[in-house]
Amino acid sequence: MLSADGLFRTARDLFLRAVTSTYNDAPDQFYEWQRQSRPSDDTFVLHDGPPYANGSLHVGHALNKILKDMIVRTKVQQESQSTLLLDIAGRRVEYIPGWDCHGLPIELKALENAKETKLTPLEIRKSARNLASNTVVKQMKAFRSFGIMGDWNQKWTTMDTAYEMRQLRLFQKMVKKGLIYLKFKPVYWSPSSQTALAEAELEYKDDHVSHAAWIRFPVTSDWRSLPQFASLRDKIKGELYAVIWTTTPWTLPANRAIAVHSNLKYCIIRNGADALLVAESRLDTLAQVLTKADSIRPEPQQNIVYGTFEGSHLGGLEYTNRLRGKAAPAQPIIHADFVSANSGSGLVHMAPGHGFDDYEVCNNYGIPVAAPIDDMGRFTKEAFPDAPEVLQGAPSVIEGGGRKVLDLLKPHGDVLLVEKHQHKYPYDWRTKKPVVIRATEQWFADVASIKEEALDSLTTVRFVPETGRKRLESFVKGRSEWCISRQRAWGVPIPALYDSTGVAIVDEQVVEHIISVIQERGTHAWWSDAPDDPAWIPRVFQARDDTMDVWFDSGSSWTMMSRRADVYLEGSDQHRGWFQSSLLTRIAAGTETGATFEKGAPFKQLITHGFTLDEEGKKMSKSIGNIIEPQQVMDGTLLPPIKRKGKAAKGQPAYDALGPDALRIWAASSDYTRDVVLSVPVLQSIHTALIKYRTTLKMLLGSMHESARTAPLTATDQVALVQLQDTMDEVGKAFDNHEFYKGYNALNRWVNNDLSAFYLEALKDRLYCGDGGGVLEPIFHGFLRMLAPMTPLLVEESWEHRPEWMKQDTSLMHPLQQLYIDPLIDTNRLNIDPLELRNDIPILMAVHGAVKPALEQARSAGHVGSSLQSTVEIYVPETNNENHKFVLSVLGKHADELADLFVVSTVYINRAQDANSSTHSADFSFREEFEVHGVKAYVEVRPPEHTKCPRCWRYVAPREDTLCSRCEDVVQTT
Ligand SMILES: [Zn+2]
Repeated sequence: MLSADGLFRTARDLFLRAVTSTYNDAPDQFYEWQRQSRPSDDTFVLHDGPPYANGSLHVGHALNKILKDMIVRTKVQQESQSTLLLDIAGRRVEYIPGWDCHGLPIELKALENAKETKLTPLEIRKSARNLASNTVVKQMKAFRSFGIMGDWNQKWTTMDTAYEMRQLRLFQKMVKKGLIYLKFKPVYWSPSSQTALAEAELEYKDDHVSHAAWIRFPVTSDWRSLPQFASLRDKIKGELYAVIWTTTPWTLPANRAIAVHSNLKYCIIRNGADALLVAESRLDTLAQVLTKADSIRPEPQQNIVYGTFEGSHLGGLEYTNRLRGKAAPAQPIIHADFVSANSGSGLVHMAPGHGFDDYEVCNNYGIPVAAPIDDMGRFTKEAFPDAPEVLQGAPSVIEGGGRKVLDLLKPHGDVLLVEKHQHKYPYDWRTKKPVVIRATEQWFADVASIKEEALDSLTTVRFVPETGRKRLESFVKGRSEWCISRQRAWGVPIPALYDSTGVAIVDEQVVEHIISVIQERGTHAWWSDAPDDPAWIPRVFQARDDTMDVWFDSGSSWTMMSRRADVYLEGSDQHRGWFQSSLLTRIAAGTETGATFEKGAPFKQLITHGFTLDEEGKKMSKSIGNIIEPQQVMDGTLLPPIKRKGKAAKGQPAYDALGPDALRIWAASSDYTRDVVLSVPVLQSIHTALIKYRTTLKMLLGSMHESARTAPLTATDQVALVQLQDTMDEVGKAFDNHEFYKGYNALNRWVNNDLSAFYLEALKDRLYCGDGGGVLEPIFHGFLRMLAPMTPLLVEESWEHRPEWMKQDTSLMHPLQQLYIDPLIDTNRLNIDPLELRNDIPILMAVHGAVKPALEQARSAGHVGSSLQSTVEIYVPETNNENHKFVLSVLGKHADELADLFVVSTVYINRAQDANSSTHSADFSFREEFEVHGVKAYVEVRPPEHTKCPRCWRYVAPREDTLCSRCEDVVQTT
């Protein structure tokens, strides 16, 4: 005998092994089946957001892929709107898995593997390709072991030549539309990765500590000749200085202007023989700074103000940045809108090469950009022209190089104060090191000119959850340019040629030429061919070997489709990543791509899921070490080992392998629109649900009889059918709406309450002693249909174990291939109108709900063992009230079946005239009240009034050792 939860345990292991062993190179049989047998004109397309081909999979990957799989499996069950076939046919789905293969983490791994050896770009690319290829194979195997259906043989990767060509064609289209340009301007730069970074590659750290400095710049002596300062000419004997505050002193060599706000008030205050220029609102702050400063004597008591001026009056002033050397030109004081009265000194140090706002403002004044640091964040010789070696020898700017800059200013008394300052600061999300803003020559995509169209296109997109709309919109709104070039080897080259002076030529023909050469030789040739190879002429080698931002790579994946996808589904971090880059590249490409691809966003629905959290609600991450691998869920090792007896108990601990279905139930049961917890208690409840499904299916498999197909249906059977139908409707609706956890909860309610506690209980007597009828077969099929998107392996397994007579029946389709709405039973067999029955059910269930606890009381008091050892009396007030009458009529209508329904021996309705009388004495009596349709009534459980039938154990036999009349009939006819 198999134990209750050990449904085919050995057989199951074999089954799982058999199923997983097919997940090698063979095509997915079910996917292939639907691709070939379903109409092509109403295909549901789920477009894969490619996972990064680096490292092993964690449960977050599993959540993502399983949700996608449940969506497509739900669609396969639905009828199609195809015009190709007249009969109702199921829907075809398209899910072609992809991988994101280029980029820095893989390149870094390639470099790491090479250890000390210095690799050429070509060697890096070869090694990176190997790493990515191997990872793709490993990840694919793992995904398939989760039971993910898909076109695994058609899988795509961003390093496939076919993919790269599409991407280059997309780039060419953008060039043609004038959306691609080269510009020397600030970008986020990671000295630790030595590349430009996109906003999406940053992490902000709240407790970054900088050395903030108060600095004074000498205003050139000419100020005395300006009429607005005439009154001060004699008061100030020494020099006038403009005071600024900066959190990045290393940017001081690149200072090119000081910004003030025209509408703010500024003061010139006494500082010894000298004077300082500061915003009026910042006087007190500056006074505190001067008090703390040791190099400059603070003024005793209070500030002595020589004069107050509108910011607009400072416009004519010029000052010197000493770091630019003896030949330093005078620099202007200018107006900027962003200057605030509430921070720093009210005068802002402007380094257009190291700040986005600085760049924008200085650009309007025609002030040139300087960024005298190199790729690793070390100063170049331009940083301090008078003695270049001083700063060139300094550490990189993220390792304290700024202190050397301050050292150069201190002898002049220009450093008023240096203080530690904690603030929010961007970090490289991969290396976890601070980034800087640095002007470099980069390729940009013009987002500003397509922004409106992109935002417009989102109005017809459905977002799940709806909050995603605002998020994606805000990322698109907040961006005007997209820096698409990276200074790394492992990527798709930016197809630009440079003339002998290093000036880039990028136009449609140039790109066309490069694409044609790449098409012939592959992208590696860009690096491997000799610089003077005539094929590429006039390319100048070594000048720029830029590759494309990986977001441009993966964002162009829509080019793999012939039309808009029905669904994109990824983690909520992709609003600023893949969703955004897909949207922008799609809008940028325009509609000419192909007539079949509709204008607008590349997706109709955009679904996002949260992150995976551990037991304590912490986000799973490598650095915390709390990552759970999908394999740990599947092999059951996260739960305590199985308790075993005898010899086996001494051996290695054994774990209950839950298989992929456990992982899938976890995904299905999660409200993925928020962050999702995976912990031992969560797994235990999943384990319980899975075992419940298995034992219930085992019970169905062992109890289905062919004869039931023709046996008359009882009211109880039809109640069970109504409950099944209602549950299927609810589950189907939830699944179709991608609310799997709602469907999962409805399914569990049905399995536990309607099926197990009610119908299967009520059916036992009939199965073993009666006509063996019932509606177990329709329930079996309905159950499997509901399970199909969630636990396809359990469905397969149950189908494998169906009874022989069912195997012979060739009219039955495989449960994964059945349509969800296909009829489960011949409606001619129903002898009660389901609509009428649906009204009766709440009353029957209300009584059932009272009988159960009353029986439980009797059982606890030791009066009954089996529920059959009882008689149930139902008392409903008999009045003229319509509801009372209705309840009584319903109970009267089903009176003959109530005993079976409640699994008791006899049921009486309102037997005694007066419920309170003691006309019949009983050994015991347990009362339970119930209310339905506003009718207050109760049931009483009492001892049986007849004797036990030795065959069916119901207390309905007339005498001891005599069969009941039903059993008498059965025995005589067989
Ligand atoms: Zn009997």
